[in-house]
Amino acid sequence: MSFVKALRCKECGAEYPIEPRTICDNDFGPVEVAYDYDAMQGKVTRRSIEAGPRSLWRYRDLLPIEGEPRVGLNSGFTPLIRADNLARELGVQELYIKDDSANYPTFSYKDRVVSVALTKAMEFGFDTVGCASTGNLAHSVSAHAAAAGLRAFVMIPHDLEEGKIVGSLVFGPRMVKIKGNYDDVNRLCSQIADKYNWAIVNVNLRPFYTEGAKTHGFEIAEQLGWRLPRHTVVPVAGGTLLPKVYKAYRELITLGLVQDNHPAMYAAQAAGCNPVVAALEEGADLFKPQKPNTIAKSIAIGNPADGYYVIKDVRQSGGYGASADDNQIIDAIKLLARTEGIFTEPAGGTTLACAIKLIESGRIPRNESICLSITGNGMKTLEVMQGQFAQSPTINAKLAEFDRVVGQIAEMAPTPRSRRLAGAPDPIG
Ligand SMILES: *Cc1c(COP(=O)(O)O)cnc(C)c1O
Ligand SMILES: [Zn+2]
Repeated sequence: MSFVKALRCKECGAEYPIEPRTICDNDFGPVEVAYDYDAMQGKVTRRSIEAGPRSLWRYRDLLPIEGEPRVGLNSGFTPLIRADNLARELGVQELYIKDDSANYPTFSYKDRVVSVALTKAMEFGFDTVGCASTGNLAHSVSAHAAAAGLRAFVMIPHDLEEGKIVGSLVFGPRMVKIKGNYDDVNRLCSQIADKYNWAIVNVNLRPFYTEGAKTHGFEIAEQLGWRLPRHTVVPVAGGTLLPKVYKAYRELITLGLVQDNHPAMYAAQAAGCNPVVAALEEGADLFKPQKPNTIAKSIAIGNPADGYYVIKDVRQSGGYGASADDNQIIDAIKLLARTEGIFTEPAGGTTLACAIKLIESGRIPRNESICLSITGNGMKTLEVMQGQFAQSPTINAKLAEFDRVVGQIAEMAPTPRSRRLAGAPDPIG
């Protein structure tokens, strides 16, 4: 039993049965899963959710599956951290990190969307699954497909980081490297899905896949004690996560599980691939596709499938966007690691670097609650940090030699000092 009503066109509202379908026949608008919220009243409660498993499946009543979850039984329910050290450095009062760098089993937010998509693929009876990926999605599809006994085909741009390739291959998928960028890979995958009748999670299962991203938002609210952050900064690639976190917040408001504090959504992109943020800054409704050139490869999507809805939701929520160049992204990766002990990949560095800009420019006030979406793990992209640190001394195992280098080391890595932003008020606490 489920509360799913239909697939509904986001443009004209036409409804379709639950089937592998991405667009509306009338206007080619994307279709989205629609639920019967009236029927949920009194049944989907804080208590019913809290009684669920410690995984993303505690929100299954708000997810588009019919039977039992089959994939990702340990995915989701990642830590929400009150980041007081970082808050002090940034001069803000109430800062949280939603840390999907710790997501199980492949250390990115993608374990959420894949858990839902592969469960749905099994309900539909597919035996082969696949994806068009910038790396993290391929890891997640490969791992979850291995555990579920499904055949997996992963399609990636040919020039991904080595860690991103090995991190998939170890799970035994069929991998095809495509000469081109992500948008070329995605286009090819649409043709593959049609011709081979495979479940390409972010293509023909996209309406189900994207719903899994809501769990990132549900968890933020529940872990805040059933409250919404006033400001949420989310990295944008294809544009799944940001609108779905916003949808999650609004669903919780509709169900009366949280108070409506008018949560504002902010898009973070790398300067080398910022179609959505450029549109927000220009005041345009439509974005212009770009050719990506950034170290933030997992979010380097120049023609985002749901970019239009990111722009719409950011505006409607009263938020904004920012972009950060590669050096700022690396500095932010180091700052997060140094202050909170969290090592994120460039996507997470982008989120923090952009949040800093939004705070400095006054778009995000310093005295209201802020949540940053950290979506991936830095261990997967070690190469971007190469050359960032001074050589450590190598010595013989002799105390005298240690005595000689210990002072030298203290100079190389000074104790973290407070590097407050210009105009920041005195730190709290
Ligand atoms: C996929 C991904 C995102 C966001 O992607 P959307 O397509 O916009 O949902 C963000 N961070 C990381 C690390 C990712 O892998
Ligand atoms: Zn339509």
